[in-house]
Amino acid sequence: MKKKLALLLACLMAVTMLAGCGKEQESTAGMGTSEKSNNVESAEGPTGSFGVDTQAIIDRGVLRVGVKNAVPGFGLQDTLTGEYSGMEIDIATKLAEYLGVEVEFTTVTAATRTELLDSGDIDCVLATFTITDERKESWDFSTPYYTDAVTVLVENASGITSLEGLVDKKVGVSSGSTSARALTAAMVEAGLIDGTGFEPDTFDPAIWTTGISYQQYEDYPAISTALSAGEVDAFCVDKSILAIYKTEDRSYIEEKFSPQEYGIATKKGSDFSVLCDELVNTWLNDGTISSFMDNYGLE
Ligand code: GLU
Repeated sequence: MKKKLALLLACLMAVTMLAGCGKEQESTAGMGTSEKSNNVESAEGPTGSFGVDTQAIIDRGVLRVGVKNAVPGFGLQDTLTGEYSGMEIDIATKLAEYLGVEVEFTTVTAATRTELLDSGDIDCVLATFTITDERKESWDFSTPYYTDAVTVLVENASGITSLEGLVDKKVGVSSGSTSARALTAAMVEAGLIDGTGFEPDTFDPAIWTTGISYQQYEDYPAISTALSAGEVDAFCVDKSILAIYKTEDRSYIEEKFSPQEYGIATKKGSDFSVLCDELVNTWLNDGTISSFMDNYGLE
């Protein structure tokens, strides 16, 4: 960043070189892909040079990012154009711009995002992925760029309005999500169910039956369908994810619980993790991330 600033100042001072400087600014901001990959300036990160993992992305010319496709404000794919939009899309695009490469999005779910990261199909995940201590053992996470909370969506006809109404009910959750654990913890904390045997670190929604039970699904549309069909009594996940499934006939319960901090996930020990964290911190401090949030009306 410092080098870029110095370059900018040098350009401003050298009046005769203004035209050339303008061009370089343009290509920096406009993802000049292959030109940028060979551009020495772009191969230098905040600490002087990129590490091998980051350099491999630059050499490839494409940053592959796992994103959601049905979370308004975060990762939403237009079914007609195939275009993605949302703050996670904007952060990923800015990351690619920084590296001087193109960006390629792959739709992931809570159940597939880690497999795709492990297999190397994607370089990072920006997909409402909550940072947890347990997950940090397997993947690196950047500083959080957004904090959401978990809540529950029900059919109005069910008469359920609060956590209390969920006692002895069956709740639909996504496999690979934090949702069931968060809801069980909230029910235990509210004194609504017996917490004996509740171990957050090893919690398994498939076998929990004390005061509430869970049905796991591969994706959110399947849970929404199950809710309409009465297969489950409620649908639990982060509020941002629930937004698209909220209809006039459905309501959120009163409570929101379990803050969900979203971070960029990368391969454990990768030098790209360090860069992602540095950039998220820079963009939190310089207002970039809050302007992305503003664009989508996120608070
Ligand atoms: N954010 C939660 C998690 O990471 C909910 C699941 C999801 O992101 O789809 O587990």
